[in-house]
Amino acid sequence: MRELRVRPEVQALDPYVPGLSIAEIQQKYGISQVIKMASNENPLGASPLVQEALCRFASYAFRYPQGGNPRLVNALATLHNIDQNRIVVGNGSDEIIDLLLRLLINPGKNSIVCCKPCFSIYPIQGRIAGAQIRLCPLNEDFSFNFDGLLGLVDADTRLAFITTPDNPSGYCPPRASVRALADRLTSAFPDCLLVVDEAYMDFADDEAGASLLAAHELPDNVVFLRTFSKSYGMAGLRLGYGVLPSSLASWFWRARLPFSVNLLAEEGGLAALADAAFREATLQATRDGRKMLTRGLADMGCVVWPSAANFLLFQPPGGAGSARACFEFLLRKGIIIRSLNSYGLPEHLRVSVGNAQENNAFLSNMRDALNTSRTSPA
Ligand SMILES: *Cc1c(COP(=O)(O)O)cnc(C)c1O
Repeated sequence: MRELRVRPEVQALDPYVPGLSIAEIQQKYGISQVIKMASNENPLGASPLVQEALCRFASYAFRYPQGGNPRLVNALATLHNIDQNRIVVGNGSDEIIDLLLRLLINPGKNSIVCCKPCFSIYPIQGRIAGAQIRLCPLNEDFSFNFDGLLGLVDADTRLAFITTPDNPSGYCPPRASVRALADRLTSAFPDCLLVVDEAYMDFADDEAGASLLAAHELPDNVVFLRTFSKSYGMAGLRLGYGVLPSSLASWFWRARLPFSVNLLAEEGGLAALADAAFREATLQATRDGRKMLTRGLADMGCVVWPSAANFLLFQPPGGAGSARACFEFLLRKGIIIRSLNSYGLPEHLRVSVGNAQENNAFLSNMRDALNTSRTSPA
């Protein structure tokens, strides 16, 4: 058949690699009980109030949602005590990332800057939008190299992306250093926006100390992204939001597909915002689990990076071979964690904080995995 003329940017793409799914592992290894600690989902599941809202609105599935999702936008404006003209919502924060790129990038003319490694949606959607991608390596300890990042920006750069707390490391700089980056950027390159992806910010022990948004410091050149996929337990419904300069927000609404946030996601989001008890329980379970996993992995001789998020980056003793062996051993036992080959970190692994039972199962199987690799010849 004749090859269609798909754009070269798309032909050259390395696609996004999602965490393995429960169904895949059930099928491949013939096991029924699978624990997924690969995609930073909520270990307590979905909020009961959200489930109840989804049932209540199931019979409305034939209706279009209200254009512009105004009730959700209002609720978010109230949550952050921000003018509602600055709030946008999308089909996951992924949609907001994609649309920001399409709003601001002239294909072949503009660039974006990101860290290396970073959340791969930024460079992937950036390439599709026709941006040149400039990557600044993280420091050895996974902290940000803001001087290096700024050094890659020029007058044609439109977006600079950082994730805080960062994925996959969990690193979280103080908000003053993010503020300093925003200020230096705006004085030298007023046409470049700083995108601060705060997908995991509510898991930080000191949110106000770490987040400009939480501290209500909103520089004109900064976009904040948050999501319902993690602490609100709604990854499957796809809902994210952004706080944008209000002029950019109005362009966003003009370009967004009219109904990309569906009716059930909107009702679920409103219910999630009302369920303070579920959120409190989620944050408590995450902080407790993070401590327990950190201690457990360190006791086995793993290097564990300090994390402000709901996952941990760690390095088992024995390098890339050992990381791969642990990952595969766990898979055969029905426990999915994240290998970081696609992030260029083959010696490291990432595990999402689970509930107490999942955390225990992970730690005891990890111990077995390391003992197996120590007693068997390479
Ligand atoms: C999980 C995650 C998101 C959330 O994406 P959604 O599209 O809202 O599910 C955004 N940024 C980072 C860095 C993430 O890890």
